[in-house]
Amino acid sequence: MTVAVYDPNNIFAKILRGEMPAYKVYEDDQTIAFMDVMPQANGHALVLPKAPSRNLLDADPAIFASLFSTVQKVARASKKAFDAEGITVIQFNEAAAGQTVYHLHVHIIPRFEGVELKIHARDMEKAEILAANADRLRAALKAS
Ligand code: AMP
Repeated sequence: MTVAVYDPNNIFAKILRGEMPAYKVYEDDQTIAFMDVMPQANGHALVLPKAPSRNLLDADPAIFASLFSTVQKVARASKKAFDAEGITVIQFNEAAAGQTVYHLHVHIIPRFEGVELKIHARDMEKAEILAANADRLRAALKAS
């Protein structure tokens, strides 16, 4: 059996090193959050631990407290920023489960009754919409 290992050149590792741009909304010593560029709903954001792991399966459990503290912070701010009726929190592990980027991350998706999610990681959102949503979410996080 081949064991999948962490690839330090994955796109989120590059964002974490500042080698790729992102619509960043939050950062502390252990976590970072930015907008998903192919959102499944308006306002879709991602929360990552800075510590490297492919996903939940190989992560050090010591990171979960800080990761989920930021997940809760961003989820609460997202609900306010986008006036959402609910927030879906999703996390995928390996390709068979739908994972496409191999640095652990948690999806935070604003939801409204009767509105289906768009297809995962397919359609790129316009830069001006991503920037405006990042501004809204950042402002709600600052006010929290
Ligand atoms: P997953 O399939 O759970 O690994 O999710 C990866 C997510 O990252 C998808 O929802 C993509 O739309 C999103 N994504 C891919 N590249 C970028 C990027 N450069 N910046 C922000 N989000 C990205």
